[in-house]
Order: sequence, then C-alpha cells, then structure tokens
Amino acid sequence: HAVSADLTSEIWEKVKNHPCYSEEAHHHYARMHVAVAPVCNIQCNYCNRKYDCANESRPGVVSEKLSPEQAADKVLAVASTIPQLTVLGIAGPGDPLANPAKTFKTFELVNKVAPDIKLCLSTNGLALLDHVDAIAKCNVNHVTITINAIDPHVGARIYPWIFYKHKRHVGIDAAKILIERQLQGLGVLAARDILCKINSVMIPGINDRHLVEVNKEVKARGAFLHNIMPLISSPEHGTVFGLNGQRGPTAWELKTLQDSCEGEMKMMRHCRQCRADAVGLLGDDRRAEFTTERIAALG
Ligand code: SF4
Ligand code: SF4
Repeated sequence: HAVSADLTSEIWEKVKNHPCYSEEAHHHYARMHVAVAPVCNIQCNYCNRKYDCANESRPGVVSEKLSPEQAADKVLAVASTIPQLTVLGIAGPGDPLANPAKTFKTFELVNKVAPDIKLCLSTNGLALLDHVDAIAKCNVNHVTITINAIDPHVGARIYPWIFYKHKRHVGIDAAKILIERQLQGLGVLAARDILCKINSVMIPGINDRHLVEVNKEVKARGAFLHNIMPLISSPEHGTVFGLNGQRGPTAWELKTLQDSCEGEMKMMRHCRQCRADAVGLLGDDRRAEFTTERIAALG
C-alpha cells in the first residue's frame, strides 16, 4: 500500500527517503528516535507516564533517557553502523516541545555532526505556536501533531488536564485550549511550508465516530498525511479509562474508519507505532546494540 501515490511531487521530494512515508523507502532506509524529552505538558487518558509517549510510540517499555550530547553521540554511532540511516526523530517519552531546550539542542548538535540526516518531531501541539521559529531554524523536515478530537466535549473525555501558561486547566476548558492551539499550530506550520502529519489514536466509544470530522478539518488546514492508529490496550493501560478498562479497536473497525477517510486525503497505514528510542529499519529494531553503555565502550 504505497503512501506515496497521492503526494504531490514537491512533498514527495521531501519525504521520499523517509522510511515512514514511502513503502519503498521503508525497506531501504532506517530511522532512529532519541528519547531526550521526559516531561509532558498534558495528560492523555491512554498514557501512563511510565511509558513512552503515544504520540508516536508503542506504549509498554520505558526507554533510556538521554542528554542532547549523548543523543548526538548515539546518532553518530548508529550512522556509522547503519549507513541507511536517513531520519532522526524526537518523539518522547514525554512531549518534545515541553522540553524545548533539550529537543532543539539535540537538533542543533545533529545538524552539526550529521547534516544529511533529516529531522522530525512529534508533539501533542500544545506548545507548537511558541516554537515555530526554532523548528524552522533547525530545518526540521516534518512535524507530527497528535490530534484526537476537534470537539472539546470529545477531547474532555481523552485529556483530563493540560498545563498551560503556568496554570493547570481541566475538563472542557483544557480540551478547548489544546484543540485551538493544535489547529492554529498546524495552520502556521502549513503556511510556512513545514510538512505536517497528523496522528490520531482511535478509541472505541470515545472518538471513533468523530475522527472522520477530524480528518476533514486537518486536511482543510494543510496536513499532508493523516495516520489513524489503534489504541493499544493492555492491562496496565486499560485502567486509566475506567475500572473495566478501555478496549482498542478491532482490525476491521480500524480499516473501516481508514477507508471512510480515504476519499478525503491520503491515509498512512504502515506506521508501526515505534518506541521513543527505536533504531533501524522499520520492523527490524536494533536499539539494543546502541545503549549508552555500549556507545561509551566504543569510545
Ligand atoms: Fe503521554 Fe504523550 Fe499524552 Fe503526554 S502527549 S500524556 S507523553 S501520550
Ligand atoms: Fe515512522 Fe510511525 Fe515509527 Fe514514527 S512511529 S518512525 S511514523 S513508523
């Protein structure tokens, strides 16, 4: 299923070597995520802070947290072992833009030591408007924003609180601020020609019916791709939504939703929901070879 089919040639130029956007590239190019961003500025009901951010990451395993310097060393070590490395992403374990100093320092160092590597960033979008210039300055290739709702009543069932302008906001008020900031951020990035992909987590009974509207809205605001991911339900994660747990969608439910959005814009269907510290080709995780200890041992 080639994601590439409907992309314009200009966008295609920017993403063709990115394993996540082209079924072709996915077999030939590698990506890595570095876990430099521990803090988050919102709470998602599907997140259990012990785990990686569900912005991009499969929940379930704690990743090793790195300083920007350690992250840059790791990029060099990986690049020298896996020459197909084309993309470095920052996706957690918290929100990269709730840790702006670490995130942008890492990008700056990587731009210096490995200028050919493309950078990407994923965020819940709350702080996006504050960092558009920094994102442009680091030459970030594309940004992923996780948008699970555009209706604050739906959002309030997903986000119990956000921390914004030195204050905790809850309920509808919190969801309203978050959604406004996400959609404005998307619009500003699109206007500045920074590629924007939208991730949505499909949560049965909460936002499953609503995601078709989300799809229309993000398309209208200039997103180039929409990636609807299934909620990954596990005993540790299920409890946050209620005592009986929250189930994830079935494969059929996910496909039906993706099909009903397909007419609207290109859908991404081969995202693997990688960990915040993933390394290697998609489906061939080599992160165990590149722990800080091992990199230090290499000198
Ligand atoms: Fe967790 Fe990510 Fe949501 Fe923050 S944005 S609460 S890290 S899933
Ligand atoms: Fe690509 Fe999805 Fe993995 Fe990110 S989480 S590197 S978009 S496959």
